[in-house]
Amino acid sequence: MGSVQIVTTILAAAITAVAVWLAVRAVLKMTAVIRLGQPAPERFTDKGARTKTMLVETAGHTRMLKWGVVGAAHWFVMVGFIVLSLLVLEAYFEVVTPTGGLPIIGHWTIFGLATEVITVLGLVGIVVLMAIRLRNRPNRPGGRSRFTGSTMWQGYFVEWIVLLVLIFGLLIRGFKVATDHFEYPFWATPVSHAVGAVLPDWQDGTSVAAVIKIIISMTWLIVISLNVTMGVAWHRFLAFPNIFFKREPARPAGSGLGALRPMTSQGKPLDFEEADPEKDQFGVAHVEQFSWKGLLDFSTCTECGRCQSQCPAWNTGKPLSPKLLVLSLRDHAYAKAPYLLAGGGKDLTGEEKATQAQLAHLDVLALAEADKPLIGTAEEGGVIDPDVLWSCTTCGACVEQCPVDIEHVDHIVDMRRYQVLIESSFPSEAGVMLRNLENKGNPWGAPQNTREDWTKGLDFEVPRVGEVDDFEYLFWVGCAGAFEDRAKKTTRAVATLLNEAGVKFAILGEGETCSGDPARRIGNEFVFQMLAQQNVETLNEAFEGREKAKRKIVATCPHCFNTLGNEYGQLGGEFEVVHHTQLLAHLVSTGKLTPVQPVDGGVTYHDPCYLGRHNRVFAAPREVLGDAIEGDLTEMPRNSERSFCCGAGGARMWMEEKIGKRINVDRVEEAMATGAKTVAVGCPFCSTMLNDGVNGKGAGEQVEVIDVASVLLRSVKPEQPQGGKETAPVG
Ligand code: SF4
Ligand code: SF4
Repeated sequence: MGSVQIVTTILAAAITAVAVWLAVRAVLKMTAVIRLGQPAPERFTDKGARTKTMLVETAGHTRMLKWGVVGAAHWFVMVGFIVLSLLVLEAYFEVVTPTGGLPIIGHWTIFGLATEVITVLGLVGIVVLMAIRLRNRPNRPGGRSRFTGSTMWQGYFVEWIVLLVLIFGLLIRGFKVATDHFEYPFWATPVSHAVGAVLPDWQDGTSVAAVIKIIISMTWLIVISLNVTMGVAWHRFLAFPNIFFKREPARPAGSGLGALRPMTSQGKPLDFEEADPEKDQFGVAHVEQFSWKGLLDFSTCTECGRCQSQCPAWNTGKPLSPKLLVLSLRDHAYAKAPYLLAGGGKDLTGEEKATQAQLAHLDVLALAEADKPLIGTAEEGGVIDPDVLWSCTTCGACVEQCPVDIEHVDHIVDMRRYQVLIESSFPSEAGVMLRNLENKGNPWGAPQNTREDWTKGLDFEVPRVGEVDDFEYLFWVGCAGAFEDRAKKTTRAVATLLNEAGVKFAILGEGETCSGDPARRIGNEFVFQMLAQQNVETLNEAFEGREKAKRKIVATCPHCFNTLGNEYGQLGGEFEVVHHTQLLAHLVSTGKLTPVQPVDGGVTYHDPCYLGRHNRVFAAPREVLGDAIEGDLTEMPRNSERSFCCGAGGARMWMEEKIGKRINVDRVEEAMATGAKTVAVGCPFCSTMLNDGVNGKGAGEQVEVIDVASVLLRSVKPEQPQGGKETAPVG
């Protein structure tokens, strides 16, 4: 060992010892913070499916590749990080002796070839990612950026480290080539040979380049260890467990969509017949009341801003960004952690759990952080502003886009639950809706005995459950479908088409009550459970004696469709629920319905969030429209998985939209820009919001917003009197 190697070996050993010590300390700290969360025993089921999903999502980059170039570039960088860690290990042999290398595999040509290819592709990938970050930097002139609010130095730091490690990897190989100590053939390592051709024949060059590579790598480890909230770096490790423990491992995308997590206390679902707010946790009032998976979610955020770029609230000037919400919760959790780890925290009656002695030596900043209300205005020192919390439409665009499967909607609703159930703090205008749900069983407060009014004037009888037993489908009309004028036209169109196709169906009529979706999404789990239990009982009675496959329900409202199909199972109601567009598509494809006159003038389709993203029904409405219209469907730029919310979900339908641009106006402008005369929808709330948007723009005479069923009816029964969009009895 020469003098240069003595120095490089000491340097490598010293910096590695410091880095490893700091990294171990950081991992212990992060683990301690995550363990502060509440139990989540359901995350340990289906280990086989979880492992498979984790491997498919990470190795296949299934989520990232939806973003084309970024996804591909990130894949090479990720593979580079994993495989080229072996080359960092090899550098420890090279600082000791310039001719050193990894034992066994270091002599394999295939190893030389693989690392060469990954190095080159990793270099291309990181340069692309750096260019994308620079092009989207928040301070660039004009335009909004998905990186707004991200900690930019951390992103640049990580990217430069990757670039430098790759460059020094090539220099090490180059010096080995130049000194004739490189054992891989030219055909397997042409770039290394090309680098070697321009480097001097310097024997110690390999050891010097190797120690620089180690210093760069360990500097990265030291910096991230001193910054445990640096998700842009830590996600390299945390993404694996975060994906493994996601809520629904079998779901291809967007675990955390569809059903909401039931309200839990100590990891057990809460039953309101026995729940006691002094003994049970009602929603989330303090950051440690999230489950440990919630705290893992916050720690894993990469700050990539994909969620932010798709969020309808953020894109219309509201203060909510799902990314910034997650970052606020993460920073608060880590800043409050010393207080919690010292035994601090409030019990369910609001009393401090720690003794004065336990808190005596705590940092004043941790104590100040512990005093912050989780939900509160800037003046109150709140972590999350109420305007942020109530701006969410629960559209799920953030969950759908998140590459590391963070479950934003569950976290937002958990915080809403505490605000509604314990603090009675929510936008006051929504109070009318909640009172109507409790007293009348529907958000509009309409009399229950008018639920069947939509059937009047139809030229056939609509059978009720109880009057007939041999129905195939129970037609779940929903509150909008029964009481709201535009939605009633959809209900009548669907009933007419089912009748035309010879489908045996029946309605519950006055036996139906609100599915509970708006109550659950605003956070009133108590009212949700009350309504849902009543409906489950009614439906179980209606389907008595039938196996699950024959307990078929068709719903026109995607919110009912989602709640009945995905959430009633939590309360003992197992049904096969389809959306009306799915049933209509089936009836057309099997020849039971025949479109005879194509609807002209151009048609575009708006994907309802609770049909599309939350339940992945993208094709059926398009198939129906494809059969019913002239020419091809005109897609809006934001469609299918990336569709833009109408603004009504998450009970926002019953709240005023006082901040920023109206979401429905933004969507209507996009729809109108397609030039289509008809905007087809598949949801009564979307219909209301988009109709309001069109009318607000004074375009009511030029553009019509109608349900897919109404479009189909016009094509199947063109002789049916249509009579203009406001007066049409059907469709
Ligand atoms: S659910 Fe929709 S509105 Fe809510 S934070 Fe996510 S993207 Fe924004
Ligand atoms: S998409 Fe996921 S990882 Fe990216 S910023 Fe949003 S929450 Fe974080």
